Parts: sequence; C-alpha cells; structure tokens
Amino acid sequence: MSTPPAAPYSPTRLVDAGRHFDRKVATVNLPVVRASSVLFETLADADAEGAAAMAGERHRTTYATSGTPTTMALTDALAEIEGAGHDCRAAVMPSGLAAISVPLLAYCSPGDHVLMSDSVYGPARVFASTLFARFGVTTEFFEPTIGAGIEALVKPNTKVIYLESPGSYTFEIQDVPAICRVARARGVLTMIDNAWASPAFARPFDWGIDVSLLPLTKYWGGHADFLMGAAVVRTEHWPKLWQAIRQLGVCVGGDDAFLALRGLRTAEVRMRRHEATALEVARWLDGRPEVARVLHPALPSHPQHALWKRDFTGSSGLFSFELKAATQAQLAALCERRRFFRIGYSWGGFESLIMPAKIGTLRTVKPWAGGPLVRLHCGLEDAADLIADLGEGLAAMARAG
Ligand SMILES: *Cc1c(COP(=O)(O)O)cnc(C)c1O
Repeated sequence: MSTPPAAPYSPTRLVDAGRHFDRKVATVNLPVVRASSVLFETLADADAEGAAAMAGERHRTTYATSGTPTTMALTDALAEIEGAGHDCRAAVMPSGLAAISVPLLAYCSPGDHVLMSDSVYGPARVFASTLFARFGVTTEFFEPTIGAGIEALVKPNTKVIYLESPGSYTFEIQDVPAICRVARARGVLTMIDNAWASPAFARPFDWGIDVSLLPLTKYWGGHADFLMGAAVVRTEHWPKLWQAIRQLGVCVGGDDAFLALRGLRTAEVRMRRHEATALEVARWLDGRPEVARVLHPALPSHPQHALWKRDFTGSSGLFSFELKAATQAQLAALCERRRFFRIGYSWGGFESLIMPAKIGTLRTVKPWAGGPLVRLHCGLEDAADLIADLGEGLAAMARAG
C-alpha cells in the first residue's frame, strides 16, 4: 500500500477510493460481502489458499465461487443447525432445485441406479427422469410408505435412495430410519428433501440420513424474498460434493446469503406459529361437508400419523385437503379472489398461499385416485382470518356448482 493515486480526480481514484478502510466496527450482524475476486498479500499465500480451497477445507477460498465470509457464515450455520450433533459440512446453491440436482450429479455416475420416492417434489422427479437419465443414471420410483421393504428394490448398482417426508402434495410420511438401516447395510447413500419440516421439526441425520437438502427459499428464509438451497452432508461425503460444486460453478451472492442468515434467527418462532395456525385451519377443514379428507400428518386421521409422532417434533404450515367433488370452475371459485390465500407456487414465507395440486404424471407407482386436491400454505396471519377467507372460498365454490 505504497503510493496514493497521483491526480486528485482520476479513474485510478474511482477504483481505489474507500478501499483502505481497516478500522473494525463491531455490529450484531456480519457485513455483507459482495465479491468475485479474493486478494492475497503474497504469491505463497495464494498458492496455499488455492490448495486448501481445492481440497474443500473450511473457510478457505481463492475466489467467491469457493465462498466469501458471508456465505461461509451461512454454511457454518447450516452445518451446525441441520447437522446438529453430527459431523457435517454444508454447501449453498442458487435454488432448492439446484440443491437437489447438484448432489445427485455429484454422487452418481453412468450405469448407476437411483431409488426415488414416488411422492417427491415434481421438478426433482423431472430432473431424474430426463436430464439425469440422459447421463446414464436410471431412476426407479417406489411407493413412499415402503419402509424396510425397500430392501427388495436395492440392486448391486443402486447408488442413492432419495426420500422426501412428508411427500409433496400428498404428505405420506416415510419410515426414514428403517430405510436408512437398509441403505447403510447395503452401502447405499441416502438423501432426503427436508423442506417441509425444516430443522425445526426434523433431524434427518439422527434418522441415519447421509445428505439432507433444504430449500432455504422456503422456511429457512421465510420471507419469500430470495431463492436458495443447501445440501448438508456427513463430512465423509463432503469431498465429492465439493468437487461437483467447484466444477459446476455453483455459488450464491452475499446479499442472498445475508437474507438467509437473517431468516434463520427467527425460524423457530415462525415455525411454531405456522404449526399452530395450520393445525387450526386443518381441523376446521376436517369438519367441513365439502371436504373428503385433510392430508396433514399431525392429524390422528393421517395414515402414517404414528410415524410422524415418532420421528418429528412438530408440523409446519403446509398441508393439502381433498374435496369430495369440484369442477374446474368450482376450483377456480375456491382459489380466486381470496384476500389472504393467494394463488402461487412455492411456500414457506410469511404469507398464505393456495394451489390445486396437478399431480397428473407426477405419480407412477400409485397414481392419485382421489378427488380434487388443494394445497394450502398457512402463513403468519391470524388463523381466524384465514378460516374466514377459506369459508368465503367454499361458499363461492358452492355458488359456482
Ligand atoms: C420448493 C421446493 C423445492 C425447491 O426449492 P426452490 O428454491 O424453489 O428451487 C424443493 N423441494 C421441495 C419439497 C419444495 O417444495
């Protein structure tokens, strides 16, 4: 840091100005680091850092694709919270879907076989059946409630068992510990999409899972204002994931990483509120004459309620209900013009959402045979307001009949 720029105003000043601030000011939150380049004092430092970053050592980076202080704070928090009590590492990716596709690419090779639950998030299924299939990986879907029966489906080339519990739209609870026991005995890697429960209500690593996937877009972020996903893995599985992430150039920016860190701070209280509100709405729907059944794992009527009770410590704001009957026009009348339950994909923010499930081709083992299915996300509004909103929707639905 030798000679300052010569001219009082110059392009050099534009580049240089304000970058020599080195006084430390302590604040509650870490500063947001927006970065591409990382700087070194010496060539030897650059070489040493390069080797360490390449090997995937914590907090080592030569370029922001390998991490910045802001993303490192987030991945540390993810490993600590999602991996609680286990030796884990975490990586962040630009969406929850990327946090599904990248680990699958990292752990599988042409000729491998993947077992995937029939009730997984639709885009995960589409990835497995199309792009992934093009790279020579065969995915076989299985009945979500198969439990230890998965053993019969494991082949010598089975590399990954991919789970999601409860399942998207239909909310089947899987016997994850039983499946993990089989997988471990057969040397198969287990992955789970932990979107619904979030770390607040499920501990996938206690169940024996090797890789837990979190769409931070949903409950971790909690405010519907950014997209991000994370893969949290047992440390023994870190090197392969890290190499894939580096080679694919998957990374996130500092602003979004900051929002993810901020979301974490209030996640516990938000989750408890989502839980209480959704339960109230679910019980109210359960008593309605238009409703055939409510698909909510915390209701005793749920087919795998006992498994939910054994393995989860709570339930979130997302569930579905099946109508006895409804035309397309009636479904539109139910969902449109609601004040609180707005029509929208995604969920996990502070706001309520409603969306009819289009399961269609998204189930191959057991196609959906019930009535029209509607998924709700109960946000942080008062339960009474949400119930009144749905009451108006059901009345509009009746009028449209
Ligand atoms: C939304 C969702 C994802 C993907 O998250 P994005 O950040 O929206 O890509 C993954 N899994 C489940 C179960 C989801 O609901």
